[in-house]
Amino acid sequence: MKYHEAGHAVVAHLVGCTLIRVSARPNGAELGHTEQSRPRGRYRHFDALTVTYAGHAATAIRNGTPPPLLDTRAPWPQVIDGDFLVADSIVKRMHRRINDGEDVKRRCRVRAQRLLSMPAHWRAVEAIVTGLSEHNVLDGSEAHRIITASIARGL
Ligand SMILES: [Zn+2]
Repeated sequence: MKYHEAGHAVVAHLVGCTLIRVSARPNGAELGHTEQSRPRGRYRHFDALTVTYAGHAATAIRNGTPPPLLDTRAPWPQVIDGDFLVADSIVKRMHRRINDGEDVKRRCRVRAQRLLSMPAHWRAVEAIVTGLSEHNVLDGSEAHRIITASIARGL
């Protein structure tokens, strides 16, 4: 679950969102929660969808079961959870035809996975997980600081 939230946080950072809070503390039905501002600019729906899928992408990478990157038709876990419902509502707001929507979803899932697979970005995921293990909740500015420092370490 920490990896799931860290995945959301790192991809949100990468697409230019401002993180508000990253939490691994269970709250009602949710096991954790990442809050961020909406992405800005032209690709915001595409970016928001990528952030939404980043939790599952991080968990799959962590478990060693990511769908093959090059096959965008590879199946993803058919789970119905909050993230997938959010994804559906984002796609509806994109005013696209339904079959086009499926293509956009696949592309954003692959994009989330590709971003998180980059060594510098995965290091940032691990650093957020460490932070959550120590504090359970990170405020947004602390999360940005951790992510920026982890990515810079590889340069
Ligand atoms: Zn999630």
